Amino acid sequence: MSRSSLKFLPYGRQQVDEDDIQAVVETLRSDFLTTGPKVGEFERAVAEYCGVEHAVAVSSGTAALHAAMHALGVGPGDEVIVPPMTFAASANCVLYQGGRPIFADVDPGTLLIDPEQAERAVTPKTRAIIGVDYAGQPCDWDALRGIADRHGLALVADGCHALGGEYKERKVGTLADMTVFSFHPVKHVATGEGGMVATDDSRLADRVKLFRNHGIATDYRQREEQGSWFYEQVELGFNYRITDIQCALGVSQMRKLAGFLVRRREIAARYDKAFASVENVAPLSVRGDVRHAYHLYVVRLSEQVDRAKVFSELRAAGIGVNVHYIPAHLHPYYQKHLGTAPGLCPVAEAAYERIISLPMHPGLTDADVDRIVEETAKIADPTGRG
Ligand SMILES: *Cc1c(COP(=O)(O)O)cnc(C)c1O
Repeated sequence: MSRSSLKFLPYGRQQVDEDDIQAVVETLRSDFLTTGPKVGEFERAVAEYCGVEHAVAVSSGTAALHAAMHALGVGPGDEVIVPPMTFAASANCVLYQGGRPIFADVDPGTLLIDPEQAERAVTPKTRAIIGVDYAGQPCDWDALRGIADRHGLALVADGCHALGGEYKERKVGTLADMTVFSFHPVKHVATGEGGMVATDDSRLADRVKLFRNHGIATDYRQREEQGSWFYEQVELGFNYRITDIQCALGVSQMRKLAGFLVRRREIAARYDKAFASVENVAPLSVRGDVRHAYHLYVVRLSEQVDRAKVFSELRAAGIGVNVHYIPAHLHPYYQKHLGTAPGLCPVAEAAYERIISLPMHPGLTDADVDRIVEETAKIADPTGRG
């Protein structure tokens, strides 16, 4: 078969089946397009899955991060500690609130926030730590909790990669004061755009609910007294509502999450086994006390190979590799407005030069995975053993 006849394998992709489509169609025929019964159903599905008291759905993972920062009362003068090895939204949410993200470098093996670096970044202005469960591997949440408790900080999990992940047999969603999820199509569960904040704290959940709806409070007793037209805007919020159409898809997708995770873990195991005998390609380390959710499958290339060459040749071979991530503090906006610069987080910066994300999504077949391994080995391993 010629190369051009092989299908392109994206790094991530939603899996939408006929029953998902039917669920959306049913909602389109219903009375509710936006906030209706499907929103609550989706929230309960995620809350029950994670074993958390409250889950509040919003329009994106980014909105969920923003709402979490608002709920905690982060504002001007406040600092929030974040890792650099993440999507910029993890840090942008602090800026939305007028606060300052402080970057704490990552562990060289897992590329998760290094608790020692996080503690070193604490100042009297620090309000919270955002841990990012990068690639789907939970952070060392006990260590982060220890730091938060010692210094009186809130703990937020950016769990956008890690729905279904576990740390010491505790599910992602229960490990921080608030956990944020995304339902972008490359994530575990797709709603098109969508996000959620999971928390056991009803006060924080209520603050997120206010924030997603302009800061409008609808007190039912007041409505009864004053008429059903009555509402009051008590805070400055946004329209961060998610629609019933999206949540119908989310509810249907949640039924498949367990199966998606099984397949993601099978694919990771197949990659791990194959790369064990390929020179110059090493998967990131995975700690023994976690169950990885594998949003991404990231490998590190040795200094012997040219990452740019591996990237472009894999793309030419129809393999949709990517790089996650350009360290957030190196984005021009951050360098310009926060004065961050190369050298601030040397571990993340060095890792960034060597990492590459291989395709990882439940729709990949074993033959797809074997093809990806073979092509990667052909380019990266001069011994040709792969
Ligand atoms: C996807 C993602 C987000 C943002 O989610 P959206 O739903 O795209 O807004 C935030 N943080 C991380 C780590 C992500 O991967």
